[in-house]
Amino acid sequence: MQRFTLPRDLYFGENALDYLKTLEGTKAVLVLGGGSMRRFGFVDKVLENLKCANIEVQLIENVEPDPSVETVMAGAKLMSEFNPDWIIAMGGGSPIDAAKAMWVFYEHPTATFEEICVPFSFPKLRNKAKFIAIPSTSGTATEVTAFAVITDYATGVKWPLADFEITPDVAIVDPSLAETMPAKLIAHTGMDALTHAVEAYVGTIHQPFTDPLALEAIKIVFDRLKASYAGDMKAREDMHYGQCMAGMAFSNALLGIVHSMAHKTGAAFSTGHIPHGCANAIYLPYVIKYNAKADATRYGNIGRFVGMVGDDASIVEQLCARIDEYNLSLGIPANLKEFGIEENEFLEKVSKISTLTLGDACTGTNPRTPTHEEMVKLLTCCYYGTEVNF
Ligand code: FE
Repeated sequence: MQRFTLPRDLYFGENALDYLKTLEGTKAVLVLGGGSMRRFGFVDKVLENLKCANIEVQLIENVEPDPSVETVMAGAKLMSEFNPDWIIAMGGGSPIDAAKAMWVFYEHPTATFEEICVPFSFPKLRNKAKFIAIPSTSGTATEVTAFAVITDYATGVKWPLADFEITPDVAIVDPSLAETMPAKLIAHTGMDALTHAVEAYVGTIHQPFTDPLALEAIKIVFDRLKASYAGDMKAREDMHYGQCMAGMAFSNALLGIVHSMAHKTGAAFSTGHIPHGCANAIYLPYVIKYNAKADATRYGNIGRFVGMVGDDASIVEQLCARIDEYNLSLGIPANLKEFGIEENEFLEKVSKISTLTLGDACTGTNPRTPTHEEMVKLLTCCYYGTEVNF
């Protein structure tokens, strides 16, 4: 038996935030990030709409990027005191992910991270509150997914939370929020969305229900990301929906080793963090070539869907060339060396990183299962920009 789960409702398009005027309930907590939503007037808009609905609101502000266990626990405690029947999270991936975890501990104050980090083992939610997610970036798609990532800074552990219980009840995908994204974020989050769709489509548990969403999302990114990056707001809106479709696909079909590699290299080097979407964008063409050596059929389908012609092997080349060209025009480096990772440090750490990558939660659904030796070789190709021929 397989399962396909999405939010109950998706409100989108201009003035989608107006849905909040009709919300039924008495109390809501509004979880926010660093302040851009307030600066651009969206917080006032949400508060105004909730006032129309006669809902009392408590704010939880300043959720940091890569939210911490402490932030989650403090938010859950505040929720327990206030007793909301709605949790509304607005902003980038971080405040929405943090709010998902706060929700779990609000409903189950005695739960621990150790217990809930076992995938798909959550206790039932929605005994106290339902959840609304309002994304301001176009990439993580956390507004429709069953995932959240919380960082334990004391131990350096990232807790990946995964369960359909934390799939939001309502997603409000209002394109005006995405208009505020800076160019670099558009590039990185757009390529993250492309990676979500490709990995969901070729992965081992892809479904008849996720395939069309993944293919359409890939087409939208190829058609619209460059224009969105250049400032075209209609393209920005299309990308906001496209990344959401990619999210619907990967929330149910999961991901692959591009994400495993991005997770385990993101904070591995002393020269600085590699942004998630940027890491994915760099690794994606190398992983496509590696996976296609075993079976190129699914990549052939992707290429034909976006108008490429030729046999599967030729389409793999065309697909990778298209991604290389995108990275170039979006200011994303072609390899880790170009990104600025030191050669000595890379060589020293690549074996350990390969071990961690093989153990990542996303590795199990990759279409080809790498050995440790292959992972070292693959990461080495991603470092020097050399051809994947194994
Ligand atoms: Fe991602």
